[in-house]
Amino acid sequence: MLRKMRIVACSEKQAKNESKLNLYTNYAHVVFHSFSKPIFQNFLNWIFRIEKMEKSMVKDIQIRFFPFIKENGNGLVGKCNNRGVVFLYPEKYVSTQKKMKKLGLLEFKIYIKWRAIAALIHELLHFKYKGNEARVKELTKKYFNIYYNNQFSKQSDTTYIPKMIFDY
Ligand SMILES: [Zn+2]
Repeated sequence: MLRKMRIVACSEKQAKNESKLNLYTNYAHVVFHSFSKPIFQNFLNWIFRIEKMEKSMVKDIQIRFFPFIKENGNGLVGKCNNRGVVFLYPEKYVSTQKKMKKLGLLEFKIYIKWRAIAALIHELLHFKYKGNEARVKELTKKYFNIYYNNQFSKQSDTTYIPKMIFDY
């Protein structure tokens, strides 16, 4: 799955703002780095086996550099299309900065890593469950928690991260 993953930057307008560019460069690298860990790749393979999904249905996983702002002003976490392409987006600049201030840089990096992992699992499940959003959400939480608890089994002070992501 790793060879299908890539970072994609395409907004020249936003790229002119240097502080934004720096922030989103780091952001994309944190995401790509967490995706490229063998343990995570194995975990994705495991989901595909359990769900009986063909890996060949996924053609391209794009970690987009800049946020996608919807018409209502909200940011989009991710989307996929029927050609097997997954798009993952960072948070909007303002909320990114707010969270960074609140959490500190280290915790913020942990948060964006998990946010992206949840988004990727969610979009991959859409390839099988199509428009069944409720089922996709339910399974995303399930798989996310399995991986999360496996990684954080020795720490109890990180339970706020799934809460931040799924808004329990
Ligand atoms: Zn969805």
